[in-house]
Amino acid sequence: MTARSGGEAGPPGGGRPDRIGIFGGTFNPVHDCHLRVAEACRAALGLDTVLFVPAGEPPLKRADLAPAPHRLRMVRLATADHPRFAVTDVEVKRAGPSYTIDTLKALADRHPGADLTLILGLDALLGIGAWHRAAAVLRARPIAVLFRPGARFTQLADLPELAGVDFRPLRECGDADPAAPLHLASADGIRLTLLRIAPCPVSGTRIRAAIQAGERRVDGLPEAVLSYILRHHLYA
Ligand code: ATP
Repeated sequence: MTARSGGEAGPPGGGRPDRIGIFGGTFNPVHDCHLRVAEACRAALGLDTVLFVPAGEPPLKRADLAPAPHRLRMVRLATADHPRFAVTDVEVKRAGPSYTIDTLKALADRHPGADLTLILGLDALLGIGAWHRAAAVLRARPIAVLFRPGARFTQLADLPELAGVDFRPLRECGDADPAAPLHLASADGIRLTLLRIAPCPVSGTRIRAAIQAGERRVDGLPEAVLSYILRHHLYA
């Protein structure tokens, strides 16, 4: 398939279904680790495209959120040079809270026949209990779970929402996090792939704090995104 950089994922081109990873988030702002972990996930799972989905109105409200059109434009700038990254405005255009379950439905309609995988950072999955229709989100699509510093994959076994998942393959790894993609499943349709990607320490919270503190040189941001932030006085 052809992924049009900065646009939507294109139609399937070959004999097999298009493999699209759906990478949602506030992207407030998008930073280097989003790009790095998205590429690591793409490579590990053989995805044709990683589709970035900036949230329009995150259901779990946050104080210092830049307006959605700005966050969308920054994601477009950051992904423009990557041939296998694409961006969708599906959540920014939709009125009301950006529920993932609605987005999965909209993208399935838009990409009939494609293999859609939801991509979540480990911290995001650990917080899934607070999500709208969490049980349905967990069963709608396979989920790739990206390692994130500050959390352990073994914490997933304590989530009530994942009570039916067979965690034995993870326990067999002992104290070490799994080196290769590790597949876990429940009998009622949850499919998780744990990805022990290289730890990437950048966070949006730290970046916003640095900008607010007036730092002109902020590590962990694509150049074009930093210029955009300064030009539009975001997070100041
Ligand atoms: P903030 O600090 O503003 O909460 P964030 O980057 O955690 O920033 P999002 O923009 O919503 O928040 O993140 C989008 C997705 O990227 C989430 O699934 C999150 O878990 C994942 N993610 C973000 N940073 C990293 C990282 N350093 N390593 C792995 N996953 C990450």
